[in-house]
Amino acid sequence: HGKRIGGNRIEVFRPSMRTVRSDRLTLETDLRRALDRGEMHILFQPIIRLEDRTVAGFEALMRWDHPRLGRLSPAEFIPVAEETGAIVDLGLFAMERTARELSAWQAALDLDPPLFASVNISSRQLLRHDLLQDVRAVLSRWKIARGTLKLELTEGLVMENPEYAAQILTRIHEFGAGLCLDDFGTGYSSLAYLQRFPFDTIKIDRSFVHHNGKGARPIILRSIVTLAHDLGMDIVAEGAETESDAIELSQLGCEYAQGYVFGHPMSANEARKLVGAAQAAA
Ligand code: C2E
Ligand code: MG
Ligand code: MG
Ligand code: MG
Repeated sequence: HGKRIGGNRIEVFRPSMRTVRSDRLTLETDLRRALDRGEMHILFQPIIRLEDRTVAGFEALMRWDHPRLGRLSPAEFIPVAEETGAIVDLGLFAMERTARELSAWQAALDLDPPLFASVNISSRQLLRHDLLQDVRAVLSRWKIARGTLKLELTEGLVMENPEYAAQILTRIHEFGAGLCLDDFGTGYSSLAYLQRFPFDTIKIDRSFVHHNGKGARPIILRSIVTLAHDLGMDIVAEGAETESDAIELSQLGCEYAQGYVFGHPMSANEARKLVGAAQAAA
């Protein structure tokens, strides 16, 4: 225990603190220029229909190829972008790139139901920016089947301001975007409460999905599936890593799964090839 003076805890200076602070400043500055410099990329991870193991859609996942630090994952830069406000432009970029790819996939592969694509939305985009305006701009630019461009939002995000979120999400949904509740099971709200938001899909967090084969699979997964279906929502299980995960999820009645057993996040080119191969098989 350190001594307290004037109520402030005395901390030993850790050399790493300085590095962390200056890295953060560098990231903030570099982030402002990253889009213009073409350093941001969107990868697409396939989402599989468990019934027949075909590709049903993709989730868009952002990567930053930093000139000095190499490829950064969203965990390393999204929080910074969220704080500085850079996330608004990055989010619009992700939506635009995703809509463009989706429109190309749908033109190449005429499926019923059509392929979908989902893109992650962060707090500032929903609560401190006109997200409806961005969705309108993107959807009017690209020819895409109604409801197939989906926004992924976590329950923590919508619960920051539930009244406002319900209102804006209802309008976005009416305008023709789909809505997914991301990472479900990690927060504290009940699905019954979340019913007031117009989600079509719930994505079950991977902490409930991958099973190491030891002991019984948590009962919670079974109850989430039942309740989501009672509420009329489809289910995507995130983070299916093994064939036995896939079989169990399918037996539980999950419609879709996403995870390394089916495919890692891939470039737009690779995603187009995958869609092309599906076209050839059809
Ligand atoms: P998320 O939306 O829950 O995305 C799923 C994450 O799980 C992705 O991590 C994906 O690569 C990873 N994943 C997929 N399959 C498996 C698997 O089988 N096993 C394991 N262990 N992991 C798997 P990623 O790409 O690092 O993204 C992390 C988070 O960053 C995302 O979580 C999302 O919250 C956020 N994010 C990504 N792209 C964007 C974006 O464009 N905008 C915003 N606002 N957030 C984003
Ligand atoms: Mg997501
Ligand atoms: Mg997720
Ligand atoms: Mg997750």
